[in-house]
Amino acid sequence: MTSTQASTQDRRTFAIIAHPDAGKTTLTEKLLLFGGAIHTAGEVKARGQNRRARSDWMKIEQQRGISVTSSVMTFETQGLTFNLLDTPGHEDFSEDTYRTLTAVDSAVMVLDAARGIEAQTLKLFEVCRLRNVPIITFINKVDRDGRDGFSLLDEVADQLQLDVCPMSWPIGMGADFEAIYDLDRNRLTQPIRGEDAIVTQCTGTDDPQLDALLTPAGVKLFREEVELAQGGYSTWDAERYRAGDLTPVYFGSALREFGISELIDALARFAPGPRVQPATPQPVSPEDPNVTGFIFKVQANMNPMHRDRIAFMRLCSGRFRRGMKLNQVGTGKSIAVHSPILFFAHEREVVDDAFPGDIIGIPNHGTLRVGDTLTDGPPVSITGLPNFAPEILRRVVLKDPTKTKQLRKALDDMAEEGVTQVFHPNIGSQWIVGVVGQLQLDVLISRLEAEYRVDAALEPSPWDTARWIASDDPAIMKAFADTHRSTTATDRDGAAVFMAKSGWDLNYAVERNPGIRFTATKERE
Ligand code: GDP
Repeated sequence: MTSTQASTQDRRTFAIIAHPDAGKTTLTEKLLLFGGAIHTAGEVKARGQNRRARSDWMKIEQQRGISVTSSVMTFETQGLTFNLLDTPGHEDFSEDTYRTLTAVDSAVMVLDAARGIEAQTLKLFEVCRLRNVPIITFINKVDRDGRDGFSLLDEVADQLQLDVCPMSWPIGMGADFEAIYDLDRNRLTQPIRGEDAIVTQCTGTDDPQLDALLTPAGVKLFREEVELAQGGYSTWDAERYRAGDLTPVYFGSALREFGISELIDALARFAPGPRVQPATPQPVSPEDPNVTGFIFKVQANMNPMHRDRIAFMRLCSGRFRRGMKLNQVGTGKSIAVHSPILFFAHEREVVDDAFPGDIIGIPNHGTLRVGDTLTDGPPVSITGLPNFAPEILRRVVLKDPTKTKQLRKALDDMAEEGVTQVFHPNIGSQWIVGVVGQLQLDVLISRLEAEYRVDAALEPSPWDTARWIASDDPAIMKAFADTHRSTTATDRDGAAVFMAKSGWDLNYAVERNPGIRFTATKERE
């Protein structure tokens, strides 16, 4: 596929953040449908199921009804290219999700109108806030009885400390739902069962057309509510939205397809194109002619017949062309990218070129790792892709000792994909795996068996938590390592790690060793 591009700003690379069940899957499907990427609703899930059925370990996904893997879907409309990055919704996979959120320029936050902000919404929002990712709010399921609009807006404002600006307003909710009014463009959208919705351009909320189109009770309540809503909340300010200080709020129903085009329009009109990426020695601007990108995810076995791995690269600057040679910053290895893959809904195709904001999949055999920067210019490293300190540490026990080599390979592979972290204790020969959530352990055991034919078990380890350790003074590091041989390890990259039996233990070590930095996240250099 070849595309041309007039500016570096015609990409909208975004993610949907939501608590499970708020409607992320349904909304994704409808965005692809309205964006022209798929032609019948239901296709996303149907294809997903096909794909899942091919791999054993993915059965976990099916059983638990969650999505473990994240992928990217592209659609083109209004002269723009939208790249929607799927984030796994399950709380156990926060690490993966966090990394995916480093690759987007904006996010859509989906709330269930009856539930408002839920635990996972909050967590994901906090990651967005850390990076000032601008957020459009979509209050879903207005076709069902939910909470009133004001209480939802107040909750967003109070809990997220974010200014809210209602951009649309529902006329009725649940059984009384009649229409959605676009406050920004004064358009009334009335759904007609089984047909396209009727859109009426109005002159304002006092337009007499509304009296003819809506029920008397509906229109009366609508006018009262809108007056309050417009008086009580922030006015629209695109700059404040882009700075992450204000969220425009849209109401709709993903299932019944209300408010979807308004949401796409909002992304097209307001969401930022590729942003400047934090990097050393200096930030990378999308206008920079050199091709620069970073790997935010590595996924194995997208085709279980071959042990292929796809490294997902977010392009930050320059025009990427197929066959191009890029340097892996750090190792200095040159990588020729002969078959970059672009994802189109759930199809994949080889791309000839890609632009800032695009995500391309690079097939490779383990060379590329999460956090790597690739460039054809002077060395530069995109920063801010964290590894998180594990909250669960387990000892890996091999049932068949002749499989040591396979186990090492498997653990190495999965550490590289970010499924688990692997630590080699300085004393003893057993590996310790660390994860941030229980589900990652289930995936690990199931994949060891299915893909590597390694029968292993996970046993409790004496450790409760781990921290990366560093010091500016090598003598201090050495002294610490010497006195803590039984509680130190190295991670896959050879970085030093301190393992603690409890939070108390950790605090004690931190207090006693002021010359050592203990960190809960590790950024790739
Ligand atoms: P996810 O877990 O966030 O991906 O949520 P899903 O998209 O799978 O939706 C969860 C449930 O809510 C499903 O049963 C959907 O059919 C339902 N749902 C999604 N959107 C709407 C909506 O707008 N209205 C109603 N009534 N149900 C919805």
